[in-house]
Amino acid sequence: MVASGMARKVDGLGRVVLPVEMRKQLGIDVGDLVDISVADGRFVLEKVEQHCVFCGAAEELREHRAKLVCAACVGSLSAS
Ligand SMILES: [Zn+2]
Repeated sequence: MVASGMARKVDGLGRVVLPVEMRKQLGIDVGDLVDISVADGRFVLEKVEQHCVFCGAAEELREHRAKLVCAACVGSLSAS
């Protein structure tokens, strides 16, 4: 692994700012979830892809009881 030259300080709450260049490269936007794990003594951050639990759609998602459901599925649930 090659150092990126983008060292960041950890603040008092353990937060680190992810460099904008890396966020753009990985398609990470404000509000996206990232999974944090440790592997071989290193932090690993992975973008969590968000999809409807019923149909797999990635748009117009709403959270219900900690699960994501799209607007279309919400509509079909309330119609039945
Ligand atoms: Zn759906």
